[in-house]
Amino acid sequence: MAESATLAMAAKAREYKANGIDVISLSLGEPDFKTPKHIQEGTKAAIDEGKYFAYPPVNGYADLRQAISDKFKRENDLDYSADQIVVSNGAKQSIANVMMALLNDGDEVIVFSPFWVSYTALIDLAGGKSVFVKGGIESDFKVTPEQLEGAITDRTKAIIYSSPCNPTGSVFTKEELVGLAVVLKNHPNIVVIADEIYEHINYTGAHASMGAIEGMLDRTVTINGMAKGFAMTGWRVGYVGAPLWLAKACTKIQGQFTSANSSISQRGALTALTTDLAPTREMSKEYLRRRDFVKELLDEIPGVKTNLPLGAFYFFPDMSAYFGKSDGESIINNASDLCIYILDHAHVSLVTGEAFGDPNCIRISYAASEADLRKAIGAIKAVLAKLA
Ligand code: PMP
Repeated sequence: MAESATLAMAAKAREYKANGIDVISLSLGEPDFKTPKHIQEGTKAAIDEGKYFAYPPVNGYADLRQAISDKFKRENDLDYSADQIVVSNGAKQSIANVMMALLNDGDEVIVFSPFWVSYTALIDLAGGKSVFVKGGIESDFKVTPEQLEGAITDRTKAIIYSSPCNPTGSVFTKEELVGLAVVLKNHPNIVVIADEIYEHINYTGAHASMGAIEGMLDRTVTINGMAKGFAMTGWRVGYVGAPLWLAKACTKIQGQFTSANSSISQRGALTALTTDLAPTREMSKEYLRRRDFVKELLDEIPGVKTNLPLGAFYFFPDMSAYFGKSDGESIINNASDLCIYILDHAHVSLVTGEAFGDPNCIRISYAASEADLRKAIGAIKAVLAKLA
């Protein structure tokens, strides 16, 4: 496997920190909020009950799977029964299970690009082959039905995308998903893997699920989890709703890899999914406020081209206007060079778009405080002005 493209950056940022230089990190997909108090309390109560210290069932506690089934129905119009749910160690393991279960050597998975970095690594690990279809910034980074049709071959086993999207913040409307579903109707064996982990950070107010479109449920795997919407990254709870045969295969694989997801984390997830979403909505409101002022700040920087993200907590600006420029010492040839230059001179860590499928872009996470965001973008603006 290739080493993570972000590791060199992370190592450099650590070096600066070790030398007492403050680096503002805008490179993480990590909410800067704490897990809401009522979820903490619900979990503590579960520990005090003393009933959750043994191995849980491989696919997750029955009451949690029922709560997830209810949530899918209530919020997403998805009709997965509790035995079609598998709870895993983060949505990342959910995706890994699905890839391992689905792919034989050489099977192709169509990956909508820009894409979340781990999709391709997990496809590789499972012996599959990533086939990219790319949405450019001029189309809000979205793939069209025609592009999808053009990428399908006899070996296509699945497609995968995230909406809201990491890294672009783009959100598929229901109409756009219907357009993709029309193409897929002619290819009934292709499985759709819809990663909806950012569903609660969606500024359109309307999250659309592929599985809710007529005829799609029994071939759609819906990925979701607690990390983003509930600020529970470290608890490691993700889940899938899937056709029963695939849910069973995921359970078999998980039984060998990790046995199950942590019992205590599952009790926390149960609290989160059966109580008030008010804290989740508050966090989403705050992300929207940040999106708005970050957009204004980025628009003031010459040569920085952005779309308007409608969800998640990232900007993915096209920075190619700076390629070929120099500060008199180093030449910026690509987005990786630019990220290193910004880290070295502005002391802000970002991630190169290469890792996400677009070498013209960089990813900026705005899951950070307002003060840090303003300071970081001000510093980026100042060091970019030195390039000519
Ligand atoms: N899908 C996407 C699009 C993500 O951004 C992430 C986390 N960065 C995940 C899945 C994995 O989430 P988890 O922390 O639950 O493994």
